[in-house]
Amino acid sequence: MIVIMEHDATSEQVDKVVKFIEKQNLKVQINNGETLKVIAVIGDKCNFNPNLLASLDGVREVQKIQEPYKLVSRISHPKDTIVKFPNGVKIGGLEKPVLIVGPCTVEQDIEGLLKVAYAAKEMGCHFLRGGAFKPRTSPYDFQGLEEKGLQYLAQAREKTGLLVVTEVMDTMDIALISKYADLLQVGARNMQNFKLLKALGRQKKPVLLKRGPAATIKEFLLAAEYILSSGNPNVILCERGVKTYDTQFSRNILDVAAVSIIRKYSHLPIIVDPSHATGKKYLIEPMSKASLVAGAHGVMIEVHHNPDIAMCDGAQSLSVEQFKNTAKVLNKLIGRIDYDNKNL
Ligand code: PEP
Ligand code: MN
Repeated sequence: MIVIMEHDATSEQVDKVVKFIEKQNLKVQINNGETLKVIAVIGDKCNFNPNLLASLDGVREVQKIQEPYKLVSRISHPKDTIVKFPNGVKIGGLEKPVLIVGPCTVEQDIEGLLKVAYAAKEMGCHFLRGGAFKPRTSPYDFQGLEEKGLQYLAQAREKTGLLVVTEVMDTMDIALISKYADLLQVGARNMQNFKLLKALGRQKKPVLLKRGPAATIKEFLLAAEYILSSGNPNVILCERGVKTYDTQFSRNILDVAAVSIIRKYSHLPIIVDPSHATGKKYLIEPMSKASLVAGAHGVMIEVHHNPDIAMCDGAQSLSVEQFKNTAKVLNKLIGRIDYDNKNL
């Protein structure tokens, strides 16, 4: 809350306002502007009627400036949230950014999934992604292997030690998916499925919340607020591009600035998915680099053992070889692995 004083307010009137605020166990910060004096009210609970303050002599206006996303806001929680996983992997703050890779969807060919998982492990990644419950634009497209897909992911984890990220579309599936996944993904289309967000807030697994295709940053943060306010503080945000009218060159438009904006206004970790943001293989590496430079805590990239025959999103999926080359570049940028000194 800020109190804007009239331009001719006397110092006695200012003192009275300050005393009023301090009596409520709140602190003040006085900013002397060129024409107006502004008094900022500092404290997390304002248990008084702001109209009382507005009615004091010399007060021109009282403005509430508290952001609507209270729990995800950096104002309420200045320190970065770091989401911790069972094997010591951490996402957020000053931790090294993570790489999350895997196919768009888990397919029948588990050998293909394992090929990607082994490559991911070899390149120092920590997470394997893959949809078992798929949100598809058309009801006639492949909808995912469901529990069988989850079992494949769990097998890949057993063999490689990679953590598993997979999407949950419905509150009814949370219990089943939680049995297999380490990080529960909310897809872009479900960013404002408030029942799902609340239910994910009532369980303990960390949540990866993707930005809706047409969501503003405020709506994105408010969606995260649903999860936090329902009891789960372990939320990782994911920028995945928003709708663009120019679909000729890019599937969506990657909002790289959103990464830096979110890091400024929220304490939650934020990663980037350049695959869905661009839909183009050649853009994955430069957009991953841009995202990491902007402050992303990780990138999530679609990789398929044979993109030409992928059931979903083959055009944007890197092959294993392409992924390895990109991972080398990103690892070097992150500073996780210095290939020049060969201290792998
Ligand atoms: C995905 O990551 O599998 C996916 C479907 O992406 P999005 O929800 O961002 O479209
Ligand atoms: Mn996909």
